[in-house]
Amino acid sequence: MGLIVQKYGGTSVANPERIKKVAEKIIATRNANHRLVVVVSAMSGETDRLISLAKSITSRPKPRELDVLLSTGEQVTIALLSIALESLGCPAHSYTGAQVHIRTDSAHNKARIMDIDAARVHKDLGDGRVVVVAGFQGVDESGNITTLGRGGSDTTAVALASALKADECQIYTDVDGVYTTDPRVVPEARRLDRITYEEMLEMASLGAKVLQIRSVEFASKYNVPLRVLSSFEEGQGTLITTEEEGMEQAQISGIAFNRDEAKLTVLGVPDQPGVASQILSPIADDGIEIDMIVQNVAQDSTTDFTFTVHRNDYDRALEILQDIAKKLGAREVTGDDKIIKISIIGVGMRSHAGIASTMFKTLANEGINIRMISTSEIKISVVVDEKYLELGVRALHDAFGLSQA
Ligand code: ASP
Ligand code: MG
Repeated sequence: MGLIVQKYGGTSVANPERIKKVAEKIIATRNANHRLVVVVSAMSGETDRLISLAKSITSRPKPRELDVLLSTGEQVTIALLSIALESLGCPAHSYTGAQVHIRTDSAHNKARIMDIDAARVHKDLGDGRVVVVAGFQGVDESGNITTLGRGGSDTTAVALASALKADECQIYTDVDGVYTTDPRVVPEARRLDRITYEEMLEMASLGAKVLQIRSVEFASKYNVPLRVLSSFEEGQGTLITTEEEGMEQAQISGIAFNRDEAKLTVLGVPDQPGVASQILSPIADDGIEIDMIVQNVAQDSTTDFTFTVHRNDYDRALEILQDIAKKLGAREVTGDDKIIKISIIGVGMRSHAGIASTMFKTLANEGINIRMISTSEIKISVVVDEKYLELGVRALHDAFGLSQA
């Protein structure tokens, strides 16, 4: 008999019918002799609705009060799910975050979980109940209600699984697992049976939005086995876990891409200490996030400096750069907001040589020009023109044999 934490997202509890279906799934798990803690999100669209309600009063609602409002979404679903469970003869108790002492810091709207007092949950489990906990919310030291940031119920589930030393944390959602790439771009994309935390973090931060990134970080830190599955179809889903020693790894596990990139270049920057910081600090000070950075080898005591930002920040970054370029005596600022980034990801890269050359050769064969390259231990990213996104991703998916099981 195991202890399992299950989390159901907004689409899984979107209406009373679906809530009843979730209750049936829970009962089936319980009948297989598992003890169960269930975390739920608000009904789909509810958190957005509450935010717009607040914004219809003022464009800048006080974060503390917004948290009081947003936490009501999950309070509705824990109650409805427990009502459904009880009506089917399954003993259940619902709890808000505060009631099970999900203690967070005081950063309203983006709070971090500090600890959880699991005693109450253990008592209920011991009494044979299913424990239903509101996701996305907690309480700070002074008793203020906090929320964990959008998608935060995933993190609640992982934190509970860690505190309770659960055997597995299962995230039920509207997709049946993590794929080798986006099936809308590559129809042959395949569901992965397993993936490492590290790979998942790269996939998630690169736009494969299945889980809140923070929940994966949390799971990785505390070694919580995390499984993504569909609420609507049977299946094993994808297990996110540690790298297995001695196991033959695929070279590449997945291909992520990001359509929202733009790049900026300062040409003819004097090559001297402090230049990189003088260029990038004003950008960062403006709250603009910088992704890839490339600086060329200097020629004739000047160098070129290129970096990428989110496309929405392109105009603003260009404006700031023009100013800096003048101050630095740089020659020219250029940019391009019609670019995208493709990344191949895999822990297998560590032990296989020649991955980069396969990637570059594949792109070259398709006539795709690479504009920037960056690498890390388990990832190689390239920036290319946006018109090559589909072609590039498909060619790479093929080249690394990701379509075959
Ligand atoms: N209801 C919250 C949101 O929509 C939290 C969650 O669903 O995970 O972001
Ligand atoms: Mg979600």
